[in-house]
Amino acid sequence: MTIDLHTHSTVSDGTETPTELLATARAAGVTVLALTDHDTTAGWDEAAAARPSGMTLVRGAEFSTESPDGRGGTVTAHLLGYLFDPDAPEIRAEQERLRASRRDRVRAMGVRMAAGGLPIDADELLARLPADSPAGRPHLGRALVDAGVVGSVSEAFEHILRKDGPYYVEKENTPIATAVAMIRAAGGVAVFAHPFARKKGPIVEASVLADLAGEGLAGIEVDHPDHAPADRATLRDVAAATGLLATGSSDYHGTNKTTPIAAETTDPAVLEALVARASGAEVLA
Ligand code: AMP
Ligand code: FE
Ligand code: FE
Ligand code: ZN
Repeated sequence: MTIDLHTHSTVSDGTETPTELLATARAAGVTVLALTDHDTTAGWDEAAAARPSGMTLVRGAEFSTESPDGRGGTVTAHLLGYLFDPDAPEIRAEQERLRASRRDRVRAMGVRMAAGGLPIDADELLARLPADSPAGRPHLGRALVDAGVVGSVSEAFEHILRKDGPYYVEKENTPIATAVAMIRAAGGVAVFAHPFARKKGPIVEASVLADLAGEGLAGIEVDHPDHAPADRATLRDVAAATGLLATGSSDYHGTNKTTPIAAETTDPAVLEALVARASGAEVLA
């Protein structure tokens, strides 16, 4: 089995439609794929319809959250929710609020970038996206690539879009304990995405992950392209000590990132344990 539990489509900030994503997964030999677009379940139906026979589909989403950092402050954090009921009113309302904030924030960053002389027209960019879509910095990065300012979206992040850069604007996030509770109440399971991805910004202390385990967090993403070997070892120790499940995933974004699909994978026993804890939406197999 080849299990990849974290991927993005054009419904958020990937570059392949859900249909194309499933074809890419199939060609790469993926047997279990999770679709985890940011703050939306809008790709679930297309993915289900495009699912090739022999491939298992785990429908999920990556929730934008804010977490205690374990040092008395807070940091932004990503939380993977799997197999929750997509019609749960709390989740629908919160995802809608976050998507609206994402668009306001892309507009605000675009205005700052234009004022700084960069060829960005945020209103035009937003008008090209579906009305309710979770716009993000990768869309600004793609516009910079199209305008010839940078050679890749990753280069745009390094030089222009980074958190400590001049154009950055924060977006709304859900308190992580609230997001874990919402996912669980909707019959889903929650996994802390890339907890030690240091290049994205400040990260949580390990103690925070142990605290969240007590609040219903089911797992942590250990094998992730942005995790150094020493950090993976630490996270594996945290998982062993707390009973958190350790997952591995590519966080595939098509050509918006360089990582290929299934570059990191999850153990079948871990998937089984995750699925056993969920009751909100069926695994499609
Ligand atoms: P946002 O959610 O708008 O703050 O943008 C963060 C998104 O950009 C995440 O989903 C990442 O997948 C993506 N991202 C972060 N860093 C990079 C990078 N260096 N290159 C390409 N994409 C990135
Ligand atoms: Fe993303
Ligand atoms: Fe993420
Ligand atoms: Zn992701």
